[in-house]
Amino acid sequence: MLPSEKRIGIIGGGQLGKMMSEAGSPWIIKYNFLDAKGSPCSLQGGTFIEGSLKSAEDIRKLAEISDVLTYEIEHINTEAIAELEKEGKQILPKPSVLKIINDKGIQNEYFEKHNIPIPVFCNLKEEKDWTEKLELFRGEKIVVKSRKGGYDGKGVEILTKQEIIDGARPFDTENTLLEQFVEDITEISVIVAVDQHGNSGTYPPVAMEFDPVSNLVMFLHTEVDMDRETLKRCREIAEKSALSFKSPGLFAVELFVKDGEVMVNEIAPRPHNSGHHTIEACYTSQFEQLNRILLGMNLGNTELICPGAMINIVGPEDFSGKYQLEIPEELSKEAGFFIHLYGKTESRPHRKLGHITILAKDKTTLFEKADKARKIKVIAK
Ligand code: ADP
Repeated sequence: MLPSEKRIGIIGGGQLGKMMSEAGSPWIIKYNFLDAKGSPCSLQGGTFIEGSLKSAEDIRKLAEISDVLTYEIEHINTEAIAELEKEGKQILPKPSVLKIINDKGIQNEYFEKHNIPIPVFCNLKEEKDWTEKLELFRGEKIVVKSRKGGYDGKGVEILTKQEIIDGARPFDTENTLLEQFVEDITEISVIVAVDQHGNSGTYPPVAMEFDPVSNLVMFLHTEVDMDRETLKRCREIAEKSALSFKSPGLFAVELFVKDGEVMVNEIAPRPHNSGHHTIEACYTSQFEQLNRILLGMNLGNTELICPGAMINIVGPEDFSGKYQLEIPEELSKEAGFFIHLYGKTESRPHRKLGHITILAKDKTTLFEKADKARKIKVIAK
C-alpha cells in the first residue's frame, strides 16, 4: 500500500535518519524527526522537532504526530519509549531490545543464555575482581570494556594483565567487563532484517577495517576472503541472534571471525555504517528495508547486485570548521563512485561527514577503485 498513510517518527536526526528518509522519498513516506537544532535531518522534508533524545517530553511530542516510532541511535531515553509502548504506541525495534543492548554486560549475559557464541567475558562486581578474574583469560592482553555509554571504540581499552595488576582502572568497577582478547580477528558485519510477520533476511557479510585512532569503520567491502561455509555460519549466527529478540527491526550484528570460528561482538538495533554500501550495491538498501519493516510490508531482496565497498569521509585531524570536498578530476568522470554528504556544516577531527560507495565487477577492480576514492579529500573552505 503506497503512498503510505503511516507517519514514521525517528528518534535521532543524524545521517541514518537522513538516509532513511531519502530511501522513503520515492514512496512519499511522511517522516518526523527529533534531534538538536542543525542536525542532518533538519534539512530534509518532514517535520523536525528540535529537542533532546533524552527528554521524555520531547519523545512524547514526536510520538503524538507519528504512527510508528524507531530510533537511529541507542543513547536515548529508554524508559520514555517503554512507557509509550505500554500506552499502545508501536515502537520498533521493541524497547526491550534497547534495554539489553545498552549494557554490554547484560548483552553478553543474554548472548550466553541464548547459546550465541561470544568471547569469554566477566562482568566485574567488586574491586578485587580486577585481579582475581584475570585467570579466566588466556594470553597477556585483556579487553576492558565500559558496559554503558561507549560507541566507536570509546569505552574499549586493550590492556595487559600486568597493567591491571599495577592498578590501571579505565572505568568504574560496576561499569566494567573484561573480555578475552581475540588475536588476528577478521571483523565482519551482517545486517539482519526482521519484518512484522516474523520473516527474516540477512545481507551478505562485509569485512570491515577500522581506523586505529578513531575506531571508525574506514573501509568495508563485500568480497570477504573466507570459505563459503564460514560465510554461511556468519549469516546463520547473525540471524539467530537477531531473531532471539523476538522483535521486528533491522539489526547490525558485528562478528569476530578467527580460524573459521564465528563470535558475536555486539548488535546495533538500527541501520549501521556497515550497511551504507547497500544503497547502491544491493537490491534493497538497509534504509528501504527498515522503511518496509516499519510500514508492515514484506522484506525486499537483500542480495548484492554487484561487489561493493565503502569508505567513510571523516573530518581530518588538522582543522575544524567549514569544509569542502576535493575530488580528483579522473574520479568525477569515472563510473561506480557514489558520494554521500550528510549535511554537517562544520568539520571536526574524526567527525563522519559522508561516505563513498564504490561498485565494480570484481574484487581487483573494486580495490583499485577504492584506492582512487581515498584521494577524495576534505579540505578547509
Ligand atoms: P564499540 O561498541 O565502541 O564499537 P566494540 O566492542 O565494537 O566497541 O570494540 C571496538 C573494537 O575493539 C572492535 O571493533 C575490535 O577491533 C576491538 N575489540 C573489541 N573486543 C575485542 C576482543 N574481544 N578481542 C579483540 N579485539 C576486540
